[in-house]
Amino acid sequence: MNFYSLNKQAPQVSFKTAVVAGIAPDKGLYFPETIEPLPNSFFERIEELSNLEIAFNAIHQFVSADIPNEKLKEILAKVLDFNFPVVPIEDNVATLELFHGPTMAFKDVGARFMANCLGYFSDSENSKNDVTVLVATSGDTGGAVANGFLGVEGVKVVILYPSGKVSDIQERQLTTLGQNITALEVDGTFDDCQKMVKTAFLDEALLTKMQLTSANSINVARWLPQLFYFLFAYKQAKSEGKEIVFSVPSGNFGNICAGLVAQRLGMPVKHFVAATNVNDTVPEFMRTNKYDPKPSTATISNAMDVGDPSNFIRIRHLFQDDFELLKTNLSSYSFTDEETKIALGSIYKNSKYIADPHGAVGYLGLKKYQESHPNTYGIFLETAHPVKFLDVVEETIGEQITIPAQIKSVMDKEKKSIRISKYAELKEYLLQR
Ligand SMILES: *Cc1c(COP(=O)(O)O)cnc(C)c1O
Repeated sequence: MNFYSLNKQAPQVSFKTAVVAGIAPDKGLYFPETIEPLPNSFFERIEELSNLEIAFNAIHQFVSADIPNEKLKEILAKVLDFNFPVVPIEDNVATLELFHGPTMAFKDVGARFMANCLGYFSDSENSKNDVTVLVATSGDTGGAVANGFLGVEGVKVVILYPSGKVSDIQERQLTTLGQNITALEVDGTFDDCQKMVKTAFLDEALLTKMQLTSANSINVARWLPQLFYFLFAYKQAKSEGKEIVFSVPSGNFGNICAGLVAQRLGMPVKHFVAATNVNDTVPEFMRTNKYDPKPSTATISNAMDVGDPSNFIRIRHLFQDDFELLKTNLSSYSFTDEETKIALGSIYKNSKYIADPHGAVGYLGLKKYQESHPNTYGIFLETAHPVKFLDVVEETIGEQITIPAQIKSVMDKEKKSIRISKYAELKEYLLQR
């Protein structure tokens, strides 16, 4: 299968080229040429399939031209070696826990899948040309990417993060690994980091000297495997016998867009909720049909502090830019930090469940949708473990949470970062290596 650029000014390319390039030469996002629905029997007997079988069937059409079946199975086995439980919270409300991976963020799956694909491509080519992965993070991407790519031969990783705007644990996860991973600490916001990364991708002088790619969810290898989550959840919730609704806490809208691809593959789920914090560009779009990006605002759900979500264009494209059609499949609501904290507290009080601020936003979005659609079974995605937002969660629920082993192991490692404040410094760093 080929991938085309959403800007339509660049040639179609293979999966491999799309992954290595990250973004098309015309600066468009890559999109699969076709999305062939899976047979009905796949969904009818999904509960008989293992997660690996589900994932293999779902991703096969997109990657099979470049990755042989046996290799794909091997990659998936490495990527999906933890659980994705659907945990009931209230009547008709459950959460899909996506935080059981090595960095306790849902981004582990996409980051590991992309790292394994790039590792395979550079291996099979025996190429001496290293790929440099450049990534901006507002929180969890950095840790997941650092962990997923650690020690992958032929790949160097440079992570930009906004100084003082990620949690202590998040910072340690991306600054303490060493080896092929470097963290650049930027004086500025996440948007500044993202802007520098975008500038680098447009910098011809730089591009002639190195193969740069992105590990943000604009990269198809990070974006597409996220569709597995929805299928794993569908498998577990199907027996509820009600219409299933997913509520996805959203920042760059990659995760929810992957969910909509799962729907396009035939998953019998009719509606999705995109829940955001006060960075409400998409909720406003869904209200007004006007896309008006804004600078991002810092919140307690910092991995979603995005004012111009990069994947929303893929969602619009999936619905041929038909606003009315999109509205029948997607609702979007935004919530303040105050509302998020109240939700955290009440989920804990009523269900003894500790959510994280992102999951709490997802919960709020679901409850809002269920006000007018009570006869549904709602699943909100828990995208990070609450321990990663220790201060705000402990303060809100009034109790201490136990720190899991994965997190403990980074707590006392030494932070190493390089401070930069402008693009010229990023460029200088990349060129001198
Ligand atoms: C990245 C992230 C999100 C947002 O996911 P998108 O695909 O960017 O919409 C939500 N929650 C957490 C914890 C994240 O790390």
